[in-house]
Amino acid sequence: MSQMSIGKVVSRSFLSRPATRLYPFEKRPFYKATRGAVAIDIEKCILCGICQKRCPTAAITVTKATKDWQINRLRCISCGACVDACPKKCLWLENMYSPAVVQKGADDKFHQLDKPGLETTKA
Ligand code: SF4
Ligand code: SF4
Repeated sequence: MSQMSIGKVVSRSFLSRPATRLYPFEKRPFYKATRGAVAIDIEKCILCGICQKRCPTAAITVTKATKDWQINRLRCISCGACVDACPKKCLWLENMYSPAVVQKGADDKFHQLDKPGLETTKA
């Protein structure tokens, strides 16, 4: 590499913004089409279990007897199969990721109450 081209590289690097971000102070924005965490409107769910059957990684567990719907975030690969299969359209993919999981087996658990209210809890 000639001295001329080295000078070009150095001056370009000196004048341009850094390629990295100061994470976690500066976070990359999510795109509209980002496939993030699976979300549920538990009030609309009929606990049919189709999402559980369609999930390729067995991340979802539906327990009709106790009216529980839970998801293992470590297993989910955000493929969207459950979202496409849900007959009530009460599942969707958020365009942001779920927070880091620090404990294995700590599923996000959603419990459907008898009317009129509903309750959401973490297992
Ligand atoms: S497929 Fe939809 S309605 Fe059926 S259990 Fe899953 S979330 Fe509920
Ligand atoms: S997005 Fe895919 S991997 Fe995640 S829970 Fe739904 S079907 Fe399973």
